[in-house]
Amino acid sequence: MSWKRRVRGALDGVAQAAGVLRAMEAARGAAPLVLMHHRVLPRARCETYPFASLALPLELFEAQIAWLAERFELRTLREAFDGPAPTDRPLAVVTFDDGYEDNYAVAAPILERHGARATFFVAADFVAGRAALWYDRAAAALAGLAAAPFAAAAQRLGVTTTESAGASLQACVEALKRLDGAARERAIAEWEALCGCSADARFAAMTPTQVRELAQRGHEIGGHSLSHALLPQCDDAQLARELEASRAELAGWCGAPIASLAYPDGAYDERVLAAAERAGFRLACTTTPPARGARVELLRIGRVDITTTRISSPDGAFDPLALRAELAGFHEVLR
Ligand SMILES: [Zn+2]
Repeated sequence: MSWKRRVRGALDGVAQAAGVLRAMEAARGAAPLVLMHHRVLPRARCETYPFASLALPLELFEAQIAWLAERFELRTLREAFDGPAPTDRPLAVVTFDDGYEDNYAVAAPILERHGARATFFVAADFVAGRAALWYDRAAAALAGLAAAPFAAAAQRLGVTTTESAGASLQACVEALKRLDGAARERAIAEWEALCGCSADARFAAMTPTQVRELAQRGHEIGGHSLSHALLPQCDDAQLARELEASRAELAGWCGAPIASLAYPDGAYDERVLAAAERAGFRLACTTTPPARGARVELLRIGRVDITTTRISSPDGAFDPLALRAELAGFHEVLR
């Protein structure tokens, strides 16, 4: 992938010199820019993390937040859409999905050092300690399988294992998303039984007490379902439960109503949108890039997916020009 990054870096420079980036930034309009993150970890842990796009090295995150805080007014999602108009700087929103422990221990202190607050979308079963996230369980179990059962598991999912072990594992997890919830659970439970392992401390969640504390410190807590179910796959009763019960539980932890939601895995359809509104969510985020120039739909707010390769130079250092190109949608054009 590194040649792609080099080409992109060179094009970023050309786009800047030609004024393309500035024009795209100006055309972005007044809608708040919403950024998506998952985890912030020490660099060594990022390098061995099974889902590379989900883990950002902490010094990269800190450099990014410092850069953003100088140029944007950083608000929570709710305050960005409900609060007063910004005075001098455009609005940006830092969001985190899932509810991992590093959000509390690492990301929140960095944000606060720069005077920023974020929106944390948390899966209630995960944070309440009732269940690990299904894709973390899958990753841990697949990584624990010997070569032959791993190949058999991949083959059953229609995944060819000619790529690296990491790429094959990610392809298996992607393939799991195409199964319904019950079949996915059966497959994961079977692998866990075979390898005798399960999602471990690497995949730990925040606690409800930490979630409450974040809310008290001015961050926003948003819904992310109970079980991280892929909502379009749920029947009506399960869909309502995933949205309503999680929203009620989070409100109980925080002592305040919950306004915002992020669809797990960005998966939604018209029925999910209607159910989210019925459950009381006024704002909801997807995982697709922000719509350019279009009016923002409050239950379909696009986000810029922040990953290590998208905002750093090949040597791993923060690359402000790459972030600018990402925020302006220039990299979207190149993808
Ligand atoms: Zn998620």
